[in-house]
Amino acid sequence: MTDEPDPLPTTRRGVCLVLSAPSGAGKSTIAEALCATEPELKHSVSVTTRPSRAGEVEGVHYFFRTREEFDAMAQGGALLEWADVFGRGYGTPRAPVEDWLAAGHDMVFDIDWQGHRQMRAALPEDVVGLFVLPPSLDVLEQRLRTRASDDPQEIGRRMRAARDEVAHWDEFDHVIVNSELDRSVREARAVLHAARLRTPRQHPVRRLVASFGA
Ligand code: 5GP
Repeated sequence: MTDEPDPLPTTRRGVCLVLSAPSGAGKSTIAEALCATEPELKHSVSVTTRPSRAGEVEGVHYFFRTREEFDAMAQGGALLEWADVFGRGYGTPRAPVEDWLAAGHDMVFDIDWQGHRQMRAALPEDVVGLFVLPPSLDVLEQRLRTRASDDPQEIGRRMRAARDEVAHWDEFDHVIVNSELDRSVREARAVLHAARLRTPRQHPVRRLVASFGA
């Protein structure tokens, strides 16, 4: 009996597809559309201290927590990454990510550039970063205005934050301009599929090649 890990695991390692974008650029819609057609893909559910919007469900869209609860999770190591966005805490629960990746499933993360940086540092082999740009700032503002639960002050804050978020676009592996949703989903799916095939993830292929005696 040994604690040594199997040098050739039977499953490939999962992909961490990190989607970032200014709020309202459409990344949540893209992530949902990907999950609808990719049975292997699981959506990471973040923890936040912001109040829920109409229609948002605890444990589905977010885990809604008080600032005290959030800080305790962060300090106790329960979050893989966390950041303050618009003055509210947002973070990724650690345990589901570790379990799902090791089981060979992929995960999609709808997080900001700060989260992407931390994820990349924590899981350099696993993270694939995809930045989603709106076709213009006017389109972005229009999309934010159609979200009834965001008040005008909140929209103003998010428009200012959009410029900060966009400034980090070139830290990502891939970028798409979301002018047409169907095309953006196709492009995001192509990124995911290519990431799955990267040689360092392909443990089962290593086994196959070993059987060739190569
Ligand atoms: P919203 O309040 O519109 O749902 O999200 C606001 C911003 O917080 C978005 O840019 C979203 O990507 C980001 N965000 C959501 N969850 C997380 C998270 O777990 N970590 C980080 N760093 N950002 C997050």
